[in-house]
Amino acid sequence: AGRTPLADRPADALRAFRDEQQQAYDELKARGLALDLTRGKPSAAQLDLSDDLLHLPTTTKDRKGVDVRNYGGLEGLAELREIFAELLWVEPSQVVAGGNSSLSMMYTTIVDFLLFGGVASPRPWGQEQTVRFVCPVPGYDRHFSMLAAFGIEMVTVEMHDDGPDMDAVEALVRDDASVKGIWIVPTYANPSGAVVSQEVAARLTAMPTAAPDFTIFWDNAYAFHHLTEDEAKSADVLTLAAASGHPDRPIVFASTSKITFAGAGVAVLAASEANVAWYLRHLSMGSIGPDKVNHLRHVEFFRDADGVRAHMRRHREIIAPKFAAVDEALTAGLDGLGVAEWTRPTGGYFVNLDVLDGTATRVVQLAKAAGIALTPAGASFPHGHDPRDRNIRLAPTFPVLDEVRTAMAGVATCVALAAAERLVADAGGPG
Ligand code: PMP
Repeated sequence: AGRTPLADRPADALRAFRDEQQQAYDELKARGLALDLTRGKPSAAQLDLSDDLLHLPTTTKDRKGVDVRNYGGLEGLAELREIFAELLWVEPSQVVAGGNSSLSMMYTTIVDFLLFGGVASPRPWGQEQTVRFVCPVPGYDRHFSMLAAFGIEMVTVEMHDDGPDMDAVEALVRDDASVKGIWIVPTYANPSGAVVSQEVAARLTAMPTAAPDFTIFWDNAYAFHHLTEDEAKSADVLTLAAASGHPDRPIVFASTSKITFAGAGVAVLAASEANVAWYLRHLSMGSIGPDKVNHLRHVEFFRDADGVRAHMRRHREIIAPKFAAVDEALTAGLDGLGVAEWTRPTGGYFVNLDVLDGTATRVVQLAKAAGIALTPAGASFPHGHDPRDRNIRLAPTFPVLDEVRTAMAGVATCVALAAAERLVADAGGPG
């Protein structure tokens, strides 16, 4: 917008800018807003798209005539596994359909590794001196808090536009047998929006690892969540892994949490047949079978894989304008100032905002005082610690469009004010 970057302005101009932003901020505060951009939740309008589920299923039998109301079928309803097998390019025998949460399938999987070890583990992870995971950052906060709860150490690598920094990943796993896993959100990553390229996926599946049971936790939560017509195709990690001689290395997770109902959808796990048998063997100690009524309801609702794809286009119509509103507000408020960079994701649920180093905590604090709730600064890093204090995750799907516009204009003001405060302080002299 033809603006001079703040860092290039003389001290008096910088102070004048700071005073302007302070005034804008005071006006913002006086409005008494109560807006929330903290969590990636579907909006009410998105949930409404799936309300037909509330009247399904219309039958109580699966196609083989088995009564879905009864116990059994630990691996999930065959019809639903087929739909997800097609969507994830695997065989139905490689898919387990479970409860409503993929996060709890990840949790169960790691617990099984810790207590029993995986198909290729020399011993349970819980009997190792140290267990480490490679964590691309910024990443999904719940992945990190889960590992912290298990006492698993986290080693960060940078997330690039095409996936994690693979030179760093390969160096970490090559000689250190305590490195047992890596989190990967391959499609429209939380929060960066990055899509793992075919090349990166091939390196992840082929790379030599000191641990024979090194596992890729391939969390494809946003596999079908496109925001543009240019629909990213996730790498077929299970086929790549099998082709490079490591069929058991990846375990794939996905769910309909942001397709149907976030609290009443269906989660799936996909893996090699050996891993599926391993997972089900342990699962059978704690369950007689999943909610097959919900599975059948989803099968009737979608009919087939194309039904899922068509449904996702209706989500896109609702949420794409919200992502556009984020970009418009940030561009209007910050473009050219040299104090912020943000993503324009082509899918998923988040915008990644990097502000001036050392000011993210201040931005979140300013926004909070003005009635705009943001995810805590640092949330996308292990232990909530962003070494540069610059990263903020924005989640624009839940509020209605007008609220996104208002909130993001306010966020832009907070980012500019925090940067100006910092630069004025750095320039020294009287504030
Ligand atoms: N994985 C990622 C990357 C997510 O962003 C989320 C939701 N925020 C989940 C998993 C949670 O999935 P589920 O609802 O299936 O437990």
